[in-house]
Amino acid sequence: MRRVAGILALLALAACGGEDRRGLCGVPGLEGERIPDVEGPGVCGIEDPVMVTRVAGVDLSTPTRMTCETASALDVFVRTGAKPVLSSKGGGLERLQVAAGYACRTRNSRPGARVSEHAKGRAIDISAFVLRDGSTLTVEDDWRSANAQTMKRLHGAACGPFGTVLGPESDPFHQDHFHFDVARQRSGPYCR
Ligand SMILES: [Zn+2]
Repeated sequence: MRRVAGILALLALAACGGEDRRGLCGVPGLEGERIPDVEGPGVCGIEDPVMVTRVAGVDLSTPTRMTCETASALDVFVRTGAKPVLSSKGGGLERLQVAAGYACRTRNSRPGARVSEHAKGRAIDISAFVLRDGSTLTVEDDWRSANAQTMKRLHGAACGPFGTVLGPESDPFHQDHFHFDVARQRSGPYCR
């Protein structure tokens, strides 16, 4: 009996180690935890959600609930877009300032509008990129500043990993943050 218990403990350890190596959602470098399903109300909610805290070594300002599909898109954006774009600025990217994650609401919180991808854990809003030296690039202040080119490269890098990318040039609701979601249009990514 004791031997069986010992083997089971070893197997449990091995399983944990495997999970660590693969990372959350099977993505190496994606950190956080699986959480219980987020239920409603109505059409809102997330099936098999995760609470993401860190992506490819970059912290999220607040643990954020989303689907694994969204977390994987965020990982691609951070690894292939945000980190390389900001590698020579302020010591590199340290943290993403999250303006919104899961939220049971309509698009832009307007009455009668279609339900937002935020209400399904399929979207994340980023308002700023915090660098290792403490300096910050914000969508609100830097989109039309000397850093405009960098901000546009960040916006562009999200286009593809995410199916929908909205920034200050899309509409008045996105002057102070980028909206990223995994909704796919048949005609290709929608990025404004
Ligand atoms: Zn949004």
